This record gives sequence, C-alpha cells and structure tokens, in this order.
Amino acid sequence: MIYPWLTQVWQQTLQQRNRLHHALLVAGPAGIGKSAFAQSLAMALLCESPAPDGSACGRCAACGWFTQGNHPDFRLLAPAAADEAADEAEGRSSTARSRSAKPSREIKIDQVRALERFVEVGGHRGGSKLILIDPAEALNTASANALLKTLEEPAGSTRFLLVASRPDALPATIRSRCAMLPLAAPPIDAAVGWLAADAGVSAEQAAQWLAAAGGSPLRAKRFADPTEATAHRLIVETLAGLPETDVIQAADALSGVEPAQWLGVLQTWVADLGRVHAGAEPRFHPDRAARLRSLAQRGGLDGLTRLNASLGKLARAVDHPLNPRLMAEDALIQLRDALAA
Ligand SMILES: [Zn+2]
Repeated sequence: MIYPWLTQVWQQTLQQRNRLHHALLVAGPAGIGKSAFAQSLAMALLCESPAPDGSACGRCAACGWFTQGNHPDFRLLAPAAADEAADEAEGRSSTARSRSAKPSREIKIDQVRALERFVEVGGHRGGSKLILIDPAEALNTASANALLKTLEEPAGSTRFLLVASRPDALPATIRSRCAMLPLAAPPIDAAVGWLAADAGVSAEQAAQWLAAAGGSPLRAKRFADPTEATAHRLIVETLAGLPETDVIQAADALSGVEPAQWLGVLQTWVADLGRVHAGAEPRFHPDRAARLRSLAQRGGLDGLTRLNASLGKLARAVDHPLNPRLMAEDALIQLRDALAA
C-alpha cells in the first residue's frame, strides 16, 4: 500500500530498482506510511515478473508467498511485541510463542543471529533474499553490533530494508552502511483532504485530528475510532483541568488509559504551553487555545523546560512502568506544580 503523498518517491524508487543500494534506510516522520512503503518495496523486489513500472505483479508465486507471509527468501525482523500485535490484527494465533515471556519492544540478538544462516544459504528462488527491519530503532546495542557484519558483507545477493522514524537514534555504524531513502509527511492541506475523504469527516474535523496527531495522517486516522477519540478527549480534558482539579482525581481519570497514550498527549500539551507562552499558536491543541493562553499567562512557567525533560525520561521507561498509577500521579503533580509556579 502506497499512500498518495508517497507516490512520487515510490515511482522514483522503482525506476532505480536495478541500481538500488543493497541496504536502504527508509526514514521519515512517524505515521506517514513508511512500513507499508517498505513492505510494498520488498514485494516488488522479490516479484518474479514485475510490471513495466517495476512494481509487484501480484500474481506470480513469489507475490503469492509474500502476501501470505511465507516467502522463503524474505525475513521480517521486528520486536516480539510488534509480532504479537500483528498476529492479533491478522487473526493469527501466537500460541507457538512463549506466552510467559513479556513481549519485548526490542529486536533481540538471537533474532539477528537467526538471520546468519538465512543469509548464508542460497536463495530458494535464485533471486535476491530480502531482510526487512522495522522499526530499526528497536535494535539494541548487542543486536545492532551483531547485524553489522551481515549488513556489510551480505553473502550472495541479500538486500536490507531498514525502517526508522528517528534515524539519528540508530548507531552511526548502522547508518553509514545504508543509503538513505527519505520519505516526507504530506503538506497539511493534502493531509486534511486525504483524511476527510478517508474517514468521511469534515475538513474541520480532519484538521483538528491532524493537529492532535502532530501532522501525522495515519496517527490522525486513529481518531476515527470512537474509542480512541473518547480516550484522547478524556486525556486532554484531564490535563486541561489542572492545576485547579485534584491530582488524585486526575490520576484516577487516567487509570484506564495506557501510560504511553496519556504521556504522549501530556508531552503535546506541555509543548503547546511552551509555544503559547512564547507568543506562538498551539500546534497540537488549537481547539484549546483559550485555555492554553489563560494557563500560560499565570506565571513564569519556568518549570516547563524541566517538566519537558522529565517527561522525556518517563517516555523511555513507559513501556515497562513499575507502577502506572504512581507514574501518572507523579507526572500530573509535576504539571500542576509547573502551572502553579
Ligand atoms: Zn509477482
């Protein structure tokens, strides 16, 4: 699936399909369709009778296997947690995996080592083998180091596609072995038009979702799900109630929400407070501009920078919070104190 704003770069990439670097780093902002782009590119590169424009035919044996997820010359390297999420989304059973182990958000060294044999043996179909690593930021230090050798001297014709929203977060040793394939977010007007048509909502509604999602069309699309939209509204209302409302009640209100979700919104709220305080328009919550302005007028908001740094630290631990409830209270107390200062 190639989203309309990526069509041009897609066609350019296909035109060069015989000259592409053996390791491509598909990089760009989160939520613009990089994974779908990389999947389509993998399918096109493995296709045994590509269309004249270089895209996959969709009818050959290779395309059939790829679509069913069992092409013998293709491997997807992803965190176990993402695997399970994909299994659920596609209705596959994940009972073959150990259920007792906590799903990992990292690509483990064992997963990289398992590739070595795949790379060594000849391709089943005589063409190139392809390894897709998505997201590449999930490689930890050990697995990134283990990958280096394979990435540098691929046996036979092995291709790599790495997907990253934060390519800067990758080790320089990995980045330097790849050619960058940059993908860009669509201009706001184009994104609003696409979202309004896709979700069947007004342009005004689409623009509001897009703002809340920081300009990411696919993240914005999630608000079309009423559960997501309700959770988002609850989080924003809870945050907007501070510092007047009680922190304990506010933490209660957030108790049914995943920490990663409320923390993400809190970060956008703090970013908007900073913008409004500096005299700019809010980026994420334009519909709450009045409330943001009244909060920003209260005091120095000196605590915002500190709060921002502190939330960044929380974000790195948010996948494994020791106590989600305490984490919420702690973050909300920091927000209240920054606003009350
Ligand atoms: Zn094909």
